[in-house]
Amino acid sequence: MTATAPSGETLWSRCGGCAALLYRKRLRRNLDVCPECGRHARVAAPERVRQLVDPGSFRPLPDRAVEVDPIGFVDVLPYPHRLTAARSDTGLPEAVLCGTATVGGTRCALAVMDFRFLGGSLGCAVGELITRTAEQALEARLPLVLVTASGGARMQEGALSLMQMATVSQAMAALREVGLLTVSVLTDPTYGGVAASFATSADLVLAESGARMGFAGPRVIRQVTGRSLPEGFQTAEFLLRHGQVDLVVPRHALRARLATLLAVADAGRRAANRAGAPAPPPEAAHPVEESGAPVRDAWETVRLARHPGRPTTLDYLETSFDGFTELHGDRLGGDCPAVVGGLARLDGRHLMVIGHQKGHTTAELAARNFGMATPAGHRKALRLMRLAARLGLPVVTLVDTPGADPGVDAEEHGQAAAIAENILTLSVLPTPVVTVVTGEGGSGGALALAVADRVLMLQHAVYSVISPEGCAAILWPGRTAAPQAARALRLTAPDLCRLGVVDEVVPEPDGSAADDPEATARAVRQALLANLLPLLDVPAVTLVQRRRRRFRRFGAARSSARAGAR
Ligand SMILES: [Zn+2]
Repeated sequence: MTATAPSGETLWSRCGGCAALLYRKRLRRNLDVCPECGRHARVAAPERVRQLVDPGSFRPLPDRAVEVDPIGFVDVLPYPHRLTAARSDTGLPEAVLCGTATVGGTRCALAVMDFRFLGGSLGCAVGELITRTAEQALEARLPLVLVTASGGARMQEGALSLMQMATVSQAMAALREVGLLTVSVLTDPTYGGVAASFATSADLVLAESGARMGFAGPRVIRQVTGRSLPEGFQTAEFLLRHGQVDLVVPRHALRARLATLLAVADAGRRAANRAGAPAPPPEAAHPVEESGAPVRDAWETVRLARHPGRPTTLDYLETSFDGFTELHGDRLGGDCPAVVGGLARLDGRHLMVIGHQKGHTTAELAARNFGMATPAGHRKALRLMRLAARLGLPVVTLVDTPGADPGVDAEEHGQAAAIAENILTLSVLPTPVVTVVTGEGGSGGALALAVADRVLMLQHAVYSVISPEGCAAILWPGRTAAPQAARALRLTAPDLCRLGVVDEVVPEPDGSAADDPEATARAVRQALLANLLPLLDVPAVTLVQRRRRRFRRFGAARSSARAGAR
């Protein structure tokens, strides 16, 4: 059944998901998302641009696509005939539409692929146009947004198509070097050479609901492996679960989401420019603050630190911070639930927050692996730290873990090296880092998030090289010595302040943090602001020098320096 308007446009179309017959104009108003089943239909590039950018703000790239038939390819038709047909079918010169625009008021460069044009394939002209868009972004210091829809590299241009993966990647690398944000929006379908280059090498990878992305297509994988594929294979939700994308965003929310992310990058860049300019201020003397509160027994503090009623990282993100956008995944195959992170604001300032996530109930704790990060969790944290540094955003970490995940899987996936890489990266990260130990600071798993310029600790938190139980089991006869071990380890906040491991104790309300989470959140927010603000104007080089000195002075270094001074 087809009903046709006088203009020749069909009035009705049938949903590819639920087969409902839909009035075309209504569907268009709903951004081509079926109002019955929510299926996201494919969108042509010009329509996509209209959906994403501020009205009237799009300026196409002045460059025109050049006619390319580098290898004189002929199948049943000569390649130029196919190009001509694609042009007349789509009204586009090539499979990508490029330009600049504003999204939520922030200017960006934009390249939007169109699957209707030879399957959105990446040929020489497409690669060239996206590269020029990236170069335009670099020249004008703009973030770059790529909306992908592609079956892969264009066969009809042979190995020269394959080379476009490298050409565009190189242009993306130049943006990475100067800290300009790149965002890709995966739409259905994104496969092959596009998936294996700029679609996934962007700083942030968003998947539109319903999008599928992969290197090899499902048909090929079935043929090669002879196996049927799992339900939902390569869908946006599958990708999120397997750490491949930061966010899954329904089409209706895409413009607002992009606007938020672009604004963060803009703010970070301006802040970084500011910090680069002035001469280094003198290093502030931070007196070790002694807590005036009555001294509790160390073992009692351990129990308070582990109390399930204590606020978690997600609680603090809700209460101490504003506008949290969670970013997911390590891009390597996992999204560890024991580590959460993303962009947030503290008193209007944009920053990256990363923390261990426990839970309040047994079910929540189990779902979060009791706050014990896997290698995927450490690599997610690493990815977000590096991204923050590139974008000129300060990093706040919240530490609350019994320790890194001690499982077989974790060992197989390189737990030790994952922790090591975080410690090393943090020690030279060119942006301010402030840590708050909010509950348990368990060993290497804690330090993987805590090599910071300022290390704060809640009054009843603990921070230790090993759990008291673990220590007791190794060094004491019998299993009942954990309380003695807790006292011997000097793991409370006042002890650690005296040792210089911690700079400041954040007071907890009467009882403990669990008794008044709101008051605790306010105290954390206040302490963070007081410690972070003085760091914001310090040039990155100075910050890193001081951080290295901070971690150089402990233990034997400290006593030998003292001996030398005498
Ligand atoms: Zn439908």
